[in-house]
Amino acid sequence: MRSAVEIAAAVRSGERTARSVAEEHLATIASREGEIHAFNHVTADAALAQADAVDAKVARGEDPGPLAGVPVALKDNLCTRGVPTTCSSRILDGWLPPYNATVVERVTAAGGVAVGKTNLDEFAMGSSTENSAFGPTLNPLDLSRVPGGSSGGSAAAVAARFAPLSLGSDTGGSIRQPASFCGVVGVKPTYGVVSRYGLIAFASSLDQIGPFAATVNDAALLLDVISGHDRMDSTSIAASPTALLNDGTDVAGLRVGLVTELTDVEGIDPEVRAAVERAASALEAQGAIVERISVPSCIYGLSAYYLIAPAEASSNLARYDGVRYGLRVDGDDVYEMNSATRDAGFGAEVKRRIMLGTYALSAGFYDAYYAQAQRVRTLIIRDFAAAYERFDVLLSPTTPTTAFKFGAKTEDPFSMYLSDICTIASNLAGHPAMSIPFGLGSDAMPIGVQVLAPALGESVMFRVARAIEAAGGVA
Ligand code: GLN
Repeated sequence: MRSAVEIAAAVRSGERTARSVAEEHLATIASREGEIHAFNHVTADAALAQADAVDAKVARGEDPGPLAGVPVALKDNLCTRGVPTTCSSRILDGWLPPYNATVVERVTAAGGVAVGKTNLDEFAMGSSTENSAFGPTLNPLDLSRVPGGSSGGSAAAVAARFAPLSLGSDTGGSIRQPASFCGVVGVKPTYGVVSRYGLIAFASSLDQIGPFAATVNDAALLLDVISGHDRMDSTSIAASPTALLNDGTDVAGLRVGLVTELTDVEGIDPEVRAAVERAASALEAQGAIVERISVPSCIYGLSAYYLIAPAEASSNLARYDGVRYGLRVDGDDVYEMNSATRDAGFGAEVKRRIMLGTYALSAGFYDAYYAQAQRVRTLIIRDFAAAYERFDVLLSPTTPTTAFKFGAKTEDPFSMYLSDICTIASNLAGHPAMSIPFGLGSDAMPIGVQVLAPALGESVMFRVARAIEAAGGVA
């Protein structure tokens, strides 16, 4: 199996056709998708047509772009023109977006070949893909375990070699946690670096699209393609990091802070903690200066997130009313129709979030919940700012444990929410963070190490990630 970087080089030079690459990956999908269920929808014909278009460019002597012929799987909350986009929810039944998300346009313009839409927790709410209305995705490394979530399908697609690259979205950890569970690299960029135009909103102030890949450099390749200002997204920023590909591995003299609140606390599996400590030692051996650092407000991130994200979701999801999109269940009047549609269309977790969010925003409780959570968000931003005065990057586990078994946390939403404890603070602060596989637990499942950086610190974050990847993670 070759990396995305190698495939693109081979297609650009004419050594391989994009069609043969697409056929090979579609064959892999055909052989294992039945047991894994990474996709809601495989777009085989469109993929072959896109591949042929890439080959035609090569034949004409034109440059097909940096992703030439590379298969890319897309999370099914990214709008694709004329292709079903479901958010793994019944409420979007039969809806066909009339436009492409900016990231989809950029991937195709760069020569990438979209192979299908990947499964997720409904509306990206969850940590295991068990909340999908179409059934869960299975972890390709152990079919009795979850792939993580909410971008479980995108992580599984890369781990099962259905595509060397995929896109996910990360609101509280939905790229990094499944990357960790499936043993692949997952990146949440700085808020605003990647356009959210055409990403179906969950919590708009936290959502960010990012890449999954088997290697750090492949993730850099895809992030280079999708990042950059977009006038269609008012939160898109002008100064995006560029040229992350091949941007070095040198960590000599870098200051790395191991976040005690996310590493040493109860609930972090000792094997996971040990892996993070080994990654820290590996960086030290390469010349970095590693120290433990306290980021005190981090531990309140989870509580703040589970007020802010549902509050934003309750507002964003108000548009699914049986009138404008997808499903409609008839009723005697408009109110009955709205209510019956939403009752039939949304799953239990989505309903829970809408109710939590509506409550947190309601007149009598706004100050006690939503406003208080926003204050915590400010404290987290301040604590990070103080930490980054002393450190270039921070290090922590990506998630407290390796991939858990199906059903292990479905009865207790709070225990499911706890798997986001290490990832959420970066979303609240708008900072970049990524997960790099580093070693295995005694259950033979991968462990992920998280590298966190300040806003627009992608370049240094990727450098540290490469150094961790190079160290290999062997115990
Ligand atoms: N697991 C978190 C949640 O359920 C994060 C989801 C996400 O990042 N989309 O909200």
